[in-house]
Amino acid sequence: MNRTFRLCLTLAVSLASTVVFAADKLPSVVVLATGGTIAGAAASDVQAAYTSGQVGVEQLLAAVPQAKKLAAMRGEQVANIGSQDMNDEVWLKLAKRVNELAAMPDVDGIVITHGTDTIEETGYFLNLVVKSKKPVVLTAAMRPSTALSADGPLNFFNAVAVAANKDAGGRGVLVVVNDWIHGASSLTKASTTAVQTFLSPLRGLIGTIAYGECEFYRGPVGKNTLDSEFSLDGVTALPRVDIVMAHENMDGVIIDAAVAAGAKGIVIAGVGNGNMTKPALDALAAQAKKGIVCVRSSRVVTGRVGRNVEVDDDKLALVASDDLNPQKARVLLRLALLKQRSLADIQRLFREY
Ligand code: ASP
Repeated sequence: MNRTFRLCLTLAVSLASTVVFAADKLPSVVVLATGGTIAGAAASDVQAAYTSGQVGVEQLLAAVPQAKKLAAMRGEQVANIGSQDMNDEVWLKLAKRVNELAAMPDVDGIVITHGTDTIEETGYFLNLVVKSKKPVVLTAAMRPSTALSADGPLNFFNAVAVAANKDAGGRGVLVVVNDWIHGASSLTKASTTAVQTFLSPLRGLIGTIAYGECEFYRGPVGKNTLDSEFSLDGVTALPRVDIVMAHENMDGVIIDAAVAAGAKGIVIAGVGNGNMTKPALDALAAQAKKGIVCVRSSRVVTGRVGRNVEVDDDKLALVASDDLNPQKARVLLRLALLKQRSLADIQRLFREY
């Protein structure tokens, strides 16, 4: 072999290995940890009492080494709280960081670890304010990391697999738990303690996942991410919107108290199709007349709340929540109230998002 031939051969081999390396390059996924039971710990592996948000992001990554085969990962700790303590400060910080990361060419997907209590609210909030079609996937656990048969590690593994999967992009913000891929706009927590707590009752699943193998069934329902008209640019605070639950013998005291406390909007978790007693409805209509935006949703787990069914929304200047449950209706209304809008425009938002 002469020198030139040997040089060519070496060059060819190194070029080939570069190509192979490029083809084999793992997608890059950033993990943003916020706490929750997935990062929770108990004194023993068989006790119900535990504390959320005890384990840091590096420990979380180290606990699931299998996920390193799916993606090149790095983690950031955004917060470490039980999601019952989720608040606007963390939301604004999280949304900002997700938008920054999603805009980076070397980031393919984002996983957010979160508590199950309010994951549907955070997921839906991000669904409305993230400006990217890259996969943004929330995951959680019902059992703390120290529990016998903890569900967190497999949920985390599956969330990384979805975030690393190009087909997951453009479906809105996703939530991956217990082998199911939910749209952030459709899922709700349905059991206080069962591992199978999340359902997407009206719209069904986006897909399923088994040990990292994804099957996608549908795209997103409702405008989201890049198609969303909401933006947090320049936003440092969100308007107050309170949820008031309807019940037998309800009066208007809590409705009026919410407005006195500064609420710019009220969501009623109504009985049935967004109904409430006559005294409550009178109080609501009086607040609506003064310019407080009042949305009728339902405390029932599934079903739409339509306009002008048993309540004359047109006459009383109320908004119907369509298929958003009270906690999601509150998220949409808070974003809607960032600017001056007509009631017709707010009703349009409830139809489109
Ligand atoms: N309270 C916990 C939380 O939301 C429950 C959980 O994560 O399952 O952080």
